[in-house]
Amino acid sequence: AKKSLMDDVVFYSQDISDDAAALLTISSELKQAKAQDQFELLLQPQVNIVSNQVVGAEALVRWHHPKRGFLTPDRFIPLAESTGSIRFVTEWVFQHAIRIIQNWREQGAEMTLSINVSAMELSNRKLFNRIAQAVKLDPTIASAITIEIVESAIVENIEFTKVLLADLRAMGFKIAIDDFGIGFSSLSYLSRLSVDILKIDRAFVNKMEFEKDLAIVRSIIGLAKNFNLSVIAEGIETQEQARTLSSLNCTKAQGYLFSKPISVDQFNKQYLDK
Ligand code: C2E
Ligand code: CA
Ligand code: CA
Ligand code: CA
Repeated sequence: AKKSLMDDVVFYSQDISDDAAALLTISSELKQAKAQDQFELLLQPQVNIVSNQVVGAEALVRWHHPKRGFLTPDRFIPLAESTGSIRFVTEWVFQHAIRIIQNWREQGAEMTLSINVSAMELSNRKLFNRIAQAVKLDPTIASAITIEIVESAIVENIEFTKVLLADLRAMGFKIAIDDFGIGFSSLSYLSRLSVDILKIDRAFVNKMEFEKDLAIVRSIIGLAKNFNLSVIAEGIETQEQARTLSSLNCTKAQGYLFSKPISVDQFNKQYLDK
């Protein structure tokens, strides 16, 4: 179950007297976490369900907190966003995503890696200057990275987002709209923004036995086709869901049916060493 932001503030305030101090604590802890590599990226395979080939992975961050143990993103991403210290996470994730792709290439594997970027990072020009610098050393790296952004973030800040997404695409990155269909209902931005991929949210995929949810999934796939975009479905847990999706011509998917998110080592062992 999702916890509220206040739960996390309280969680961080346990040994501290007030919420402001708790917010300061998480900022300095995230900064340290970046410096000391306390984060870890788990990889979940993205699969072509027609050929049964793994075509890439989504990187999902975890935090090995020195005092609080293993933290999933819902325990710290919302707080990191609200304090602005999300940049430490995002910078670390980019650095490590680049390393993962370099390592894959050294092993002869051409796969894509999707990373999640928070809404508010879209306004961080400094971050994007650093990313630009990092990929300037090897521009081909960008073409292997898909940046996943949630729909609501795009709609809230469309003029700014438009410029930024165009810049990122010019660098070679692919852009995916995450949780498509969940957030805001404005579709007009699809014609105004240049994106590459629509990602169908798990909330629709796991209810496809209901006619209306199936209709939404079918519509998103149709929309993607009409806009010349790729489509990928997330949260596939059953063979039947996979069959339904492929009958609707959605060929890419990820979910527990194929694999839970696993460590980079495990991923490489399982999907690279053939
Ligand atoms: P998301 O981007 O929508 O990622 C999908 C989430 O669904 C992941 O949870 C994944 O482990 C989970 N999942 C994948 N397949 C299945 C399935 O078949 N069934 C079910 N029930 N769940 C499945 P996770 O790893 O806990 O991540 C939660 C959210 O945290 C992500 O949602 C994303 O919004 C955010 N997040 C993760 N990593 C990062 C990051 O590096 N940066 C930022 N800003 N956000 C991140
Ligand atoms: Ca995602
Ligand atoms: Ca998603
Ligand atoms: Ca989500």
